[in-house]
Amino acid sequence: MGFEVPIVLPISKPRKGSSGETGLWRVERPIINESKCIKCWLCWLYCPEEVISEGENGFPVIDLSYCKGCGVCADVCPAKAIEMVREYG
Ligand code: SF4
Ligand code: SF4
Repeated sequence: MGFEVPIVLPISKPRKGSSGETGLWRVERPIINESKCIKCWLCWLYCPEEVISEGENGFPVIDLSYCKGCGVCADVCPAKAIEMVREYG
């Protein structure tokens, strides 16, 4: 006689604001250069904070209230359209 053990996959779903608004501790912020962007949306796909969305002009926009400045979006951008700049000087 056997019984089935339910399989629960530990899937992580990013949710905007799940870790709260970003304080003053962020060291760098991402800046998108729309003239280089090819709209591949890899930045949107990989952002762990889910703070990238489509702006009115069809290009990605970043909600800096929640962006943690991790730089993942800049790393995955194939067009080098995202630059991380220092927050303070
Ligand atoms: S820096 Fe990190 S948190 Fe901010 S938009 Fe890029 S991937 Fe998302
Ligand atoms: S990853 Fe780079 S090229 Fe692709 S949508 Fe984002 S900013 Fe544009």
